[in-house]
Amino acid sequence: RPYSLNELRKMFLEFFESKGHLAMKSFSLIPHNDNSLLLINSGMAPLKPYFTGAEIPPRRRVTTCQKCIRTGDLENVGKTARHGTFFEMLGNFSFGDYFKHEAIAWSWEFLTQVVGLDPDRLYPSIYQDDDEAFDIWNKEIGIAPERIFRFGKEDNFWEHGAGPCGPCSEIYYDRGEKYGCGKPGCTVGCDCDRYMEVWNNVFSQFNNDGHNHYTDLIQKNIDTGMGLERLAVVVQDVDSIFDVDTIQALRNKVCDLAGVKYLEKHETDVSIRIITDHIRSATFMISDGIMPSNEGRGYVLRRLIRRAARHGRLLGIEGKFLAKLSETVIETSKDGYPELEEKKEFIFNVLTQEEDKFNKTIDQGLSILNEMEEKLSAEGKKVLDGADAFKLYDTYGFPMDLTKEILEEKGYDIDEEGFTVCMQEQRQKARDARKVSNYMGKDATVYDEIDPSVTSVFVGYEKTECESPIT
Ligand code: ATP
Ligand code: MG
Ligand code: MG
Ligand code: MG
Repeated sequence: RPYSLNELRKMFLEFFESKGHLAMKSFSLIPHNDNSLLLINSGMAPLKPYFTGAEIPPRRRVTTCQKCIRTGDLENVGKTARHGTFFEMLGNFSFGDYFKHEAIAWSWEFLTQVVGLDPDRLYPSIYQDDDEAFDIWNKEIGIAPERIFRFGKEDNFWEHGAGPCGPCSEIYYDRGEKYGCGKPGCTVGCDCDRYMEVWNNVFSQFNNDGHNHYTDLIQKNIDTGMGLERLAVVVQDVDSIFDVDTIQALRNKVCDLAGVKYLEKHETDVSIRIITDHIRSATFMISDGIMPSNEGRGYVLRRLIRRAARHGRLLGIEGKFLAKLSETVIETSKDGYPELEEKKEFIFNVLTQEEDKFNKTIDQGLSILNEMEEKLSAEGKKVLDGADAFKLYDTYGFPMDLTKEILEEKGYDIDEEGFTVCMQEQRQKARDARKVSNYMGKDATVYDEIDPSVTSVFVGYEKTECESPIT
């Protein structure tokens, strides 16, 4: 039996503990004192203060399995084998301690000896100018030169906003011809799912001040990231992250609830995978105290929940189903994240309330959208007015990208700029209305609408995410 996802997480952390690392708990998905990020998107993101020297790390070698959200990968989800909006990133970190030699050697040791992957299927890539990394792979690890790929800045120079950055060396796994795109020149670095990037070793040597001014970091650091789900894909030799043991259990539950089978129809499969992915994200986001709202992180969450709800509709699921799925997420993930179990009821409540809210308007919204489509088609137009898209948002709670996705399925587009203009106008109106009521001294009426029993309401304003009451 191949290693399970939960086993692999443990093996990784124990391996790096044996190399002198301190295993730390995953940080929250909500960045702490960092405005450059909406959500934690990598293992290194919450460790930035240790890299920049702003804070002293508890040890100079640290290892984590970090919860991550990448909304930038939203479009990929369900389409590629390897992308989720939520995933767990395994990482080992050196704050001015070891550097390239150890990082490369240990990643190779872990993959080939601990986990037992076939070395002949592994290919490293390096940043084009990084001859030091080339020599380590070639001379110390013994990889033939033609198996080492040199890539440019886009792929092999790691940076996310302000902070530490540097060249990197990725490790790809050849999953075999059947996963290839078949195009000529398909090799390591091709965007198809044959050569799957599993690990990224970042040699962070520089600091980006946020305006692309680079300075040498006082100390050189190692920051690595390996997607736990991707590791499980290659170890378990399965088609995609949706076939990994724990995620497959969730996927099966989606199928059960919908009464559909996986791998029978492409569109159905995409919906199944989207729901499977989004409920993982939503469960973890809520457990970290993010609440659905119309702004920032809360809006990311709202979009994920509503998109999942809509794909549930497409699969023919009647009624509420997200909390039921969340239960499976918690069951299969609590091994690594015991707090999920503690917050279970809270998570279910938030999901159910948001689903309820959307359910009240989704059917009506969908039929209005249908009418809008018919009108477009009758008029021979291809682009929906921004004002119409805004009406769907404002009155029926359809996030713009949801409307866009539905229209795209039928070959239509949306006037996004027009939508933004309507949004701005509405915000301005709201601001003006506030001003008028202040001027007239009537601002007190706002408080009349607040249930006096909800005494925590002002706490809600300060801690915008964590303890605000569900509205
Ligand atoms: P890709 O090129 O496949 O999109 P990436 O280069 O964007 O991956 P990195 O930023 O290097 O990924 O992140 C480090 C590791 O995290 C990757 O090597 C991969 O194993 C994992 N990873 C990145 N994005 C995702 C995702 N959306 N879902 C699952 N795992 C991911
Ligand atoms: Mg990517
Ligand atoms: Mg990449
Ligand atoms: Mg990468």
